[in-house]
Amino acid sequence: MIAKVLVEISSKNIDKTFDYIVSDKFKSLIKVGMRVKVPFATRILEGFVLELSDNCNNNYELKEIIDIVDYEIILNKELLALGKYMQDITLSTLISCYQTMLPKALKAKHNSKINKKLVPYLKLGTNKDCKLTNKQQEIVALFKDKEEILKKDINSSVIKTLIDKKVLELFYKEVYRYNDNYVTYENYKLTNKQQEIVSKVLENKDKNDVFLLHGVTGSGKTLIYMEIIANLLKEGKSSILLVPEISLTEQIVSRFRSRFKDNIAILHSRLSEGEKYDEYRKIYKNEVKIVIGARSAIFAPLKNIGIIILDEEHTDSYKQDSMNPKYNALDIAKFRGKYLNIPVLLGSATPSLESYSRSSKGVYKLLELNERVNNKKLPLIDIIDMNKEIKKRKGSFSNKLIEEINNTLNNNKQVILLLNRRGYSSFISCKNCGNVIKCPNCDITLTYHKSSNTLRCHYCGYGTNVIKTCPNCHEEALTNLGVGTEKIEEELNKLFKDKKVIRMDYDTTVNKGSHEKIIKSFQNHEYDILLGTQMVAKGLDFPDVTLVGVINSDTSLNIPDFRSSETTFELLCQVAGRSGRGNNEGKVIIQTFNPDHYAIKYAKYHDYKGFYQREMFIRHKLCYPPYYYLTLIRVISKDYDLSLKTASKVAKYLNDNLDNVKILGPSIASLFKVNNKYRFQILIKSKNISKQYPILIKLLEHYKNNNNINIDIDFNPLHV
Ligand code: ADP
Ligand code: ZN
Repeated sequence: MIAKVLVEISSKNIDKTFDYIVSDKFKSLIKVGMRVKVPFATRILEGFVLELSDNCNNNYELKEIIDIVDYEIILNKELLALGKYMQDITLSTLISCYQTMLPKALKAKHNSKINKKLVPYLKLGTNKDCKLTNKQQEIVALFKDKEEILKKDINSSVIKTLIDKKVLELFYKEVYRYNDNYVTYENYKLTNKQQEIVSKVLENKDKNDVFLLHGVTGSGKTLIYMEIIANLLKEGKSSILLVPEISLTEQIVSRFRSRFKDNIAILHSRLSEGEKYDEYRKIYKNEVKIVIGARSAIFAPLKNIGIIILDEEHTDSYKQDSMNPKYNALDIAKFRGKYLNIPVLLGSATPSLESYSRSSKGVYKLLELNERVNNKKLPLIDIIDMNKEIKKRKGSFSNKLIEEINNTLNNNKQVILLLNRRGYSSFISCKNCGNVIKCPNCDITLTYHKSSNTLRCHYCGYGTNVIKTCPNCHEEALTNLGVGTEKIEEELNKLFKDKKVIRMDYDTTVNKGSHEKIIKSFQNHEYDILLGTQMVAKGLDFPDVTLVGVINSDTSLNIPDFRSSETTFELLCQVAGRSGRGNNEGKVIIQTFNPDHYAIKYAKYHDYKGFYQREMFIRHKLCYPPYYYLTLIRVISKDYDLSLKTASKVAKYLNDNLDNVKILGPSIASLFKVNNKYRFQILIKSKNISKQYPILIKLLEHYKNNNNINIDIDFNPLHV
């Protein structure tokens, strides 16, 4: 017997299976989709068995499989097919696709470190008629109404004797490390509108439809997800629910735990390797039927899946764009939906233009919720023109925003403030020569962090102590420009001295569990104002928040990217949606230097369709998605000249070989220099991506052995 094994080696040169002999002792055990250990050159590597066959047509001498790694099928048929599909649409190596699908924790070299956690228990043993002392009797009596007890709960010296006499038996149970102390939520009865939507989805549960649930913020989408999942559960079917950010999992998980208890596995990047390992084991052992998690949870190896749900489907974080394979969880969901013949449900208050236009063409089935639960009103939004406030304002705050914060807090309600920029000031520049201090590794301005008194690069992590004199003109004329959350926190503490402010951004949430802590303490009214970056904008549900303030809506508007209007509109709608979710009406104040920008104007009236039409018109004119597909090709090298020269060659090659496309560039990438590497980019706009595959595969082939040049391809990039 021969096994075709895909070895785990991360090289763009080796991406094919190798044949190995399956010795007699493994013949009855080995299955396609298992992991094995094989000799490879001078090393021993792990690999996946992709095929088993009886004949071999190699003329070289084959080696034997050394061992089977785990006697479970890690990649079932569906996942094997999914990996090949990912390879097809991303042009990444097959092994990188399979590796992406599995948590690192499942790898053998990790396993040795994160063994299952076993805890000692006691139960009654086989010896029933042993004579016991009083003390011993007391212990045995504990087992009258309990079959088993944690050993550490009976901390007695008598136990050892009892175990020796077989009166008690010691055994070990695997415990799972992940533990969320959830808050209990009430189970509401569905409104008629919610029920209608649940029914529509369930009526089509045996078909592969993609539904787009366009429901305004606070329309009760979460309850709809829960109800659908509960109904499928009755038939023994399992579900995957993706949520965009871990800052959101806490509240959603609480609601799900209240209802589904232990029937849930949680998967996100903040879990420790051990916790992740345990969560995956629950899935493999069929102990849970619901998986809730961030992007990579889309690969959850659940059995008998009934539905895949993506909450906040427009979210950036569903796309993996920092490493290969550059996949979008949405595509993976659609593939699995089709393969398993089950529905996929996408939910959002602000669907991506791509998704909404698909629903208007009938590719997706549109479900709409235009009102909040029980006809609660969407909050009133006020736009403050900061150009007019320049003279009167106090720091970063307009008088109107200060007044509204005071009103809200005096009514014992709470405030959420958004500023999409962390740190103290966003850059340091010289008043004398205009020099801006940048990262030595990246073409990025350094951000001042006051708490640590350092300048830091938000891309590569470079940090340095604060400097006073300009390295360019040597004058002591450096000044902070642009505010970040740290600075706003300082301003708030001065403006509202007797109120409590809590900040939630990347810097305050590096420690595990810190999100949960912040959210819980704000929920419990230990704080009056929650200030943060986009982490506070999405999904959170605090009934007592009646005011949301956006300190500066221009940060996202001014990013040179074709999606910046969409991102801004979405961010404003989402954060506005945090206000007035309870019994009291909410208000929103948006501060901006661009009060006439259409993204801000449509956000003011919660007018998604108005924004959609306007933005579609622009995308059409400029040939951007959803009218055209984009392919972004980056040429990356430590050598500036080589990078530029190669980029020009690549552009010429594409121009010579592709028809019916628009090719832009080469141009400087939006992040031109990162980690000391220069990046040029070429953008292809086309009506059909798959026609480019053969040409691009050749391109990758051509450069695959070149260590000085990296060709990086991103299909359907979110940003260019
Ligand atoms: P969305 O995800 O659409 O923004 P949520 O699912 O968070 O909205 O619901 C908004 C609020 O309305 C939540 O506080 C939720 O508990 C409440 N809610 C949802 N459905 C109902 C219902 N049927 N009856 C009463 N309250 C509900
Ligand atoms: Zn840097």
